[in-house]
Amino acid sequence: MPAKYHIHTQPMPPKHKPIGKYGIVDWREDCSACHNCVKRECAYDVYDKERDRLVNALQYVDYLYECKGCLCCVQSCTKGLLTWETNPEYLKLGDEVWTPDIISSTWFQAETGRIPVSGAGYPGPFCGPGFDSILTDMSEIVRPTRDGIHGREYINTQVDIGRKPTALAFNPEGKLALKSPPIVDIPIPAIFGLMPWHKTSPQLLTAILDAAKKLGTYAFVDDSSLFAHDVAIPYVSGEFVPLEARLAVWPDSPDVVRRIEKAKSTNPEMIAIVSLCLNQNAVSRSLELAKAGIDVIHLLADWHGMTVNSDKPKHITHAVREVHLAFVEQGNRDEITLIAGGGIALAEHMAKTIICGADLVSVDVPLMVALECRICKNCQQGLPCPIEIEDVEHDYAVQRIVNLMGAWHNQLLEMMGAMGIREVRRLRGEVGRAMFFDDLERECFEPIFGKRKEL
Ligand code: SF4
Ligand code: SF4
Ligand code: SF4
Repeated sequence: MPAKYHIHTQPMPPKHKPIGKYGIVDWREDCSACHNCVKRECAYDVYDKERDRLVNALQYVDYLYECKGCLCCVQSCTKGLLTWETNPEYLKLGDEVWTPDIISSTWFQAETGRIPVSGAGYPGPFCGPGFDSILTDMSEIVRPTRDGIHGREYINTQVDIGRKPTALAFNPEGKLALKSPPIVDIPIPAIFGLMPWHKTSPQLLTAILDAAKKLGTYAFVDDSSLFAHDVAIPYVSGEFVPLEARLAVWPDSPDVVRRIEKAKSTNPEMIAIVSLCLNQNAVSRSLELAKAGIDVIHLLADWHGMTVNSDKPKHITHAVREVHLAFVEQGNRDEITLIAGGGIALAEHMAKTIICGADLVSVDVPLMVALECRICKNCQQGLPCPIEIEDVEHDYAVQRIVNLMGAWHNQLLEMMGAMGIREVRRLRGEVGRAMFFDDLERECFEPIFGKRKEL
């Protein structure tokens, strides 16, 4: 039996001071220096881990990067000196989609390779826009695997990229009569996409490619000096023909099929991907491309996970589901590979996008956040990057990205274990393992209150 896929993580501390969420207001002048100070009792060892920084801070408000907000220290201080409050700097991080909590949780995962936990439990609402309108069905959690996600029961997260034959054919000698089409398998359902607007550099792209190689996956790259990297998927513009590439990606254009045919005439084993903007024509264009023989379609939403150039933008999950169902309707869904990208920020987004019909996802912005990007958007406006991301140190960057993917992989295993699914290829389009808020609201409340008004 082949060895289990395992991502080797190791702690990689941040290069810049992280922006902590919670502040413990510590009125030190009244502290009675108790023998059993509550700070030593912190279950997450936060004060100890952050001791060096706290000693130098010498402020009344200390923002603790790793505090989980369990309130134990606040409640137990004998003199009631500790108060809990949210750091105003933290609230300024990111935007309404790339929220401070997503950024902070990504930093934590990139630093430790561990699944993030919340000591205060989940305090938020149980639904919201976008990915938060899908609840995954963890009903199998009552019968988890015998010995956990890393135990004997194997949960397979491998996916295939390429056109798959729909049936096998054998010659009279019993040998396979089909020449199998080129196909690549990767051990996690994620490849790395192009950064939507971040400033990059050959140094940064090399680190991303090297991290992809360590993980056994691939990365899109638009810098021709890196096209020869083992796991590069060249992003082909113009008439360039990738002679050696195993996979290559073309942006959609009226003559994309002709350009791919030309490239395949010199490299027939290459897997061609067409990157298609997720807009109102995505369904018809995807069907057209598949009919013309394209193996893999990359459905790309904007970096907030919404369809582009549309009067009524849809979330990526809805748009991907429409494309997936159109292929199911035609009876050829299993032949082609759908990669979905744009706005995928968390491990759960990867699982939910697959549930909506993608075979795998492309990950972009989280890679930058793993390297401590604050989504301040300075680079979008041509201003200097506060963390000088283009000069990132190679080994640090590779390990932080590997750690992030290690944490995502473990979360995917946890989710699939709890859903009772042992094979990520079976998760594709498996809406029976999800509940959609819109459906639940319609079924439960429409008979009582009537149809929800369209705003
Ligand atoms: S428990 Fe409170 S008063 Fe006692 S040492 Fe700790 S912070 Fe100071
Ligand atoms: S609130 Fe909880 S997690 Fe945060 S520092 Fe206090 S004891 Fe530790
Ligand atoms: S920290 Fe700001 S400037 Fe630097 S890469 Fe991120 S968004 Fe761009």
